[in-house]
Amino acid sequence: MPDASLRMTPTRKPGRHFFANPGPTNIPDSVLRAMDRNSMDFVESDFLEIYDQARAGLKRLLFTEHELFFYASSGHGGWEATMVNLFSAGDKVLMIGGGYFPNTWAALSRAYGIDVETLEVDWHEGVKIADLQARLEADKAHEIKAVCVVHNETSTSVALPLREIRAALDAARHPALYLCDTISSLGCFEFKMDEWGIDVVVGGSQKGLMLPTGMAFSAAGPKALAAHAKATLPRFYFDWTAMLSRRFRSFTGSVPIVPFFGLVESLRLLEQEGFETVWARHHRLAQAVRAAGHVWGGGNQGPTLYCRDPSRYSDSVTTFEVPEGHDAERLRKVLLERYNVSTGGGLGALSNRVFRIGHMGDLNEAMILGTLATVEIALGEVGMPHTKGGVMAAMESLAK
Ligand code: PLP
Repeated sequence: MPDASLRMTPTRKPGRHFFANPGPTNIPDSVLRAMDRNSMDFVESDFLEIYDQARAGLKRLLFTEHELFFYASSGHGGWEATMVNLFSAGDKVLMIGGGYFPNTWAALSRAYGIDVETLEVDWHEGVKIADLQARLEADKAHEIKAVCVVHNETSTSVALPLREIRAALDAARHPALYLCDTISSLGCFEFKMDEWGIDVVVGGSQKGLMLPTGMAFSAAGPKALAAHAKATLPRFYFDWTAMLSRRFRSFTGSVPIVPFFGLVESLRLLEQEGFETVWARHHRLAQAVRAAGHVWGGGNQGPTLYCRDPSRYSDSVTTFEVPEGHDAERLRKVLLERYNVSTGGGLGALSNRVFRIGHMGDLNEAMILGTLATVEIALGEVGMPHTKGGVMAAMESLAK
């Protein structure tokens, strides 16, 4: 008899598992098929071709001509690799606060002895550009070596205006590097590294790129590579200098080939649909989620959109703050266990206070409506106050 503890298949529930998480996201069937690969020698020309295609395609999506480094890691590894390659112990960086991810990025940097100053902001709105500019202007000695920004704060669903942040750096005539986490925005809404003057980007595989978790990357421009040349934090596996000296750029030792087959296919899908069409689809679906949210939370009785600045609504995730005295986790539990719908929970300080609907990646109108309808049923079931009719509003938004 096989050991029951080795059983691999989770208990099956009928129908499709609806995955409305803000990353990881649904993986298209063709991407799954593309990754169904046996081992091959990673120095074979067949693989080199795949690697080069993945690299070139990802640079097109990032709208960059700069260097690209891949990491066999999740997004956290991407941050770590980036920080150790750019800084020395004691260097000061300015972290733009506003949610769980800047806090974690700051903690990681501090673990390496980087002096992190966080620009605290209202999490419901994100940084005020004037405050950022004022802080940079006050730094007459240019002690701040970098400004670190999370483009799309996945915990709060506040998306920051990256062009305006560049303009603030320029207006303050501040030479700091501009670092941007694009983990939950890339492949979902507009992002243009070179045009927007971003020096370093950190990305991950499991969101807009529609791949499993486990591959991260960063792109770095000339100013970043110059900083790297002087940076003394310890590094080995993730050392950009070593990576630049190799045909593969990345990876000391064996190359994880499978994600690259997936990446080539996911980039093919994105390019076939067209980047602008992909962004427009995300916007359309996001608007439908927000339309439902505005109805549910009408009169501030029900769950309300956490982001309070409509110009900063995220097109890849919507965070809902539940009414005082109610538990977001109870709602999520009912959604998952009774309806087989997975949503995102609150992270860190927002734990129990919010639930999140991810609308990124391989998603269409029917999937969004199915999720919203089920959320509306579950809101009633757990007795969370809300105004009915959110799904109707979403339908009307999509029918426009
Ligand atoms: N940055 C942002 C904006 C994210 O949304 C996430 C994950 O959700 C991360 C960083 C961390 O990435 P990972 O979970 O792959 O380590």
